[in-house]
Amino acid sequence: MNRRDWIKGLGLGVGAGAVGLMSPSNAFAAEARRGTKSLAPLKITKVRAIKTAPQRARLVVVKVETSEPGLYGLGCATFNQRPLAVVTAVEEYLDPFARGRDVDNIEDLWQNAYTSSYWRNGPVLNNALSGLDMALWDIKGKRAGMPVYQLIGGKCRFAADCYVHSSGRDLKELEESVKKNMELGFRHIRIQLGAYGSPHLSTKADFRDAGFGAPQDTLMEARPYLKATPKMFEHIRNTCGEEIELLHDMHERVEPRDAIRLLKELERYRPFFIEDPVAPEANDYFRQIRAATTVPIAMGELFNSPHEWVGLMKERLIDFIRVHLSQTGGFSVARKIATLAEWFNVRSAWHGPNDVSPVGHAANIHLDLAIHNFGIQESLTFSDAMREVFPGCPTVKDGYFYVNEAPGWGVDINEEAAKKFPYPEQPGYWEPVRRRDGTAVRP
Ligand code: MG
Repeated sequence: MNRRDWIKGLGLGVGAGAVGLMSPSNAFAAEARRGTKSLAPLKITKVRAIKTAPQRARLVVVKVETSEPGLYGLGCATFNQRPLAVVTAVEEYLDPFARGRDVDNIEDLWQNAYTSSYWRNGPVLNNALSGLDMALWDIKGKRAGMPVYQLIGGKCRFAADCYVHSSGRDLKELEESVKKNMELGFRHIRIQLGAYGSPHLSTKADFRDAGFGAPQDTLMEARPYLKATPKMFEHIRNTCGEEIELLHDMHERVEPRDAIRLLKELERYRPFFIEDPVAPEANDYFRQIRAATTVPIAMGELFNSPHEWVGLMKERLIDFIRVHLSQTGGFSVARKIATLAEWFNVRSAWHGPNDVSPVGHAANIHLDLAIHNFGIQESLTFSDAMREVFPGCPTVKDGYFYVNEAPGWGVDINEEAAKKFPYPEQPGYWEPVRRRDGTAVRP
């Protein structure tokens, strides 16, 4: 190579190098590197559980602290009936497991935390894991400066259409409650006579006379409930009109054969959905239910593992998934269940009673906003005490549930206020319900 060629080559080389550095792909890579640097690596420094009960239910909220001072995330881990077991799982097991790990890799952390106990998929561990999972999504939203629904694709609707509960000991009381809720703007109302299974309609607690069980155990006979429920639907249709959408929860309290007959009787009143017609142990009856009636079915509140939905979905045996987000392991899991459900025309109906914290309610709504196969959202009216403890609570207006636009879940916790609402002294048992002869009724 002569000197002229060498210089020419050098020139080309330098030129090529310079062009290379400025090419769109390299410029993009450099920009990406700068972007990554702006999100400095963060570590989890502490995972702890906050106990509070501003609205009776024993809430467990997980707070994940990070190596960036002041940056933390919140997650719902509420298991009203066994809250202290969840607190132990969070503080004795998840905290040491998660400390020092990368805040950003939510799925990786979830998978490893899930199997870190080897045995898994129980409500205690799933709730603890959910607290961690949701808190990491909250942190990611805060880091991005976006509400979580933006991180998973943005809005499919402006707010979550929701249902409210109406109950009454008799038809007149129930009718008044339904009309009041209609005036508030609700288009969907879940109706029931008294408590689940209308236990007040039963009269003969022979087990008490015989000294069987404890005095506070509840009586619930299936027959009065099965007779009263079609009459309840008929009365509300006659007095409240055809427009309002009616929902009802059977709460798994009758025999499968009776459940099928009741569903057939209710079909003429066009329920929006009937929830939990049979217990999870009787899942095989859904084929018969489906063959017998077109009433839309909601199912799954008691499921633990996301795998419990697979069979019901792929055989198209249900229409709505009832999922208690924290019970199944958190936002990440519920999002996967929703995605699976979309392929089978199953719509969402996330569980939203008072034993879900406002952080959990916010997670429900963020998912409602971002998934195509949203069905309906169970709503809760938050008390003044709840709003004091949880600034940024979701709000209900004209039958729609809204989250605010703050980054993450948009819900914070005032830990000083939380301390003012300790758990009630009575443990949160699901009180025993018995047939007339004392046989235990499974919810
Ligand atoms: Mg239910």
